[in-house]
Amino acid sequence: MLVTSRPNTIEKLQLLSRDSQYDLACACSYNKSEHRTRGTNGKWIYPVTLPDGGVASLFKTLISNHCTSDCKYCPLRQNEDIRRCSLSPEEIAASFLQYYRQGVVFGLFLSSGITCSSDTAMEKLIAPVEILRKKHNFKGYVHLKILPGSSRAAIEKAISLSNAVSINIETPGAQYLDKLSSKKDFLKDIVEPMKLISQLTAQSRHRVKQTTQFIVGAAGESDRDIVNYTSALYKRINLQRVYFSAYQKHQPDNPKKQSINTENAFMREHRLYQVDFLFRKYGFDQSDIIYDQSGLLSCETDPKEVWAKNHPEFFPVSINTADRHKLLRVPGLGLQTVETILNKRKLAKIRSIDDIGKVGSRLFRACKYLDFGDSQKNKAFLFNF
Ligand code: SF4
Repeated sequence: MLVTSRPNTIEKLQLLSRDSQYDLACACSYNKSEHRTRGTNGKWIYPVTLPDGGVASLFKTLISNHCTSDCKYCPLRQNEDIRRCSLSPEEIAASFLQYYRQGVVFGLFLSSGITCSSDTAMEKLIAPVEILRKKHNFKGYVHLKILPGSSRAAIEKAISLSNAVSINIETPGAQYLDKLSSKKDFLKDIVEPMKLISQLTAQSRHRVKQTTQFIVGAAGESDRDIVNYTSALYKRINLQRVYFSAYQKHQPDNPKKQSINTENAFMREHRLYQVDFLFRKYGFDQSDIIYDQSGLLSCETDPKEVWAKNHPEFFPVSINTADRHKLLRVPGLGLQTVETILNKRKLAKIRSIDDIGKVGSRLFRACKYLDFGDSQKNKAFLFNF
């Protein structure tokens, strides 16, 4: 007879935090390597980049990897032969507080497989947060995953206890989700709850953010499909962030076994984050994004430079007179560099790229798109596509 010992809390955290790596909806950076970084003193310590550029750690785990759903892209789907376990609300609250009180983590991110029903799983997700908020008077950051198909009551309760919530949209439309799951109804289980969250968070007395996540490369969708859907989500639903998770074919810890398709998915993920950044920070619109004939973003060139190469009429941009919006369109000029340019030219005319700062590869790339006026030094670079 095979005897399997019951995992203790640490063993369960190891299993469940590993399985939570597919949820990226808590990082602020768009650097793909940062999304999958995990702490060395426990995989549940998850470094994230904060909006101000600083780095801090979240306590991030699933509460259970049991799931009754059948998403084809997910290693946790029902009938998969994996080791399953669940953490009790008390185990999560106690483990989290231990790290929080030591100053190791600033907040908590909880998700779960769908155990029995969405609302049953939501009850279990909410329970440790209630313990923390009510019994321990914890006032810090909590991000709760909203499970597809959750009821209004469960969503309201989650929002009342959280600083951020997210439901994964997964695909850009029902036609793609239908290929991946026979159990999730795209509109009823995902889009309607997203709209409800948007309404409820707008009414909430405390500010609650909503994010979502696409899986990239699992359903034959194009980058254009994802980008257009992302743009619509930002416009119609008050989303703080959209995340993109490359389909990993269930070999996340063994890069040697990743297929070429998986590598492509990582590059697609990276380019989609760049597009997302252009939308949120650089004033780009979906009509500014250029694809190949298959609707895919260029693997070789970033989407801002692809736009620049397709709009020669826009360049060169005058470094001394162009407004912020125009400068942000120049490949190689990031947000901080544009601020530097705007500040420096208030004091004196900018005559060469050296006046902006140390010239690395990005600033050097920007030169050919910029006009420095009568400076001879930069004329050699001017607009030489
Ligand atoms: S519902 Fe979530 S955990 Fe369950 S199979 Fe689908 S993606 Fe995986």
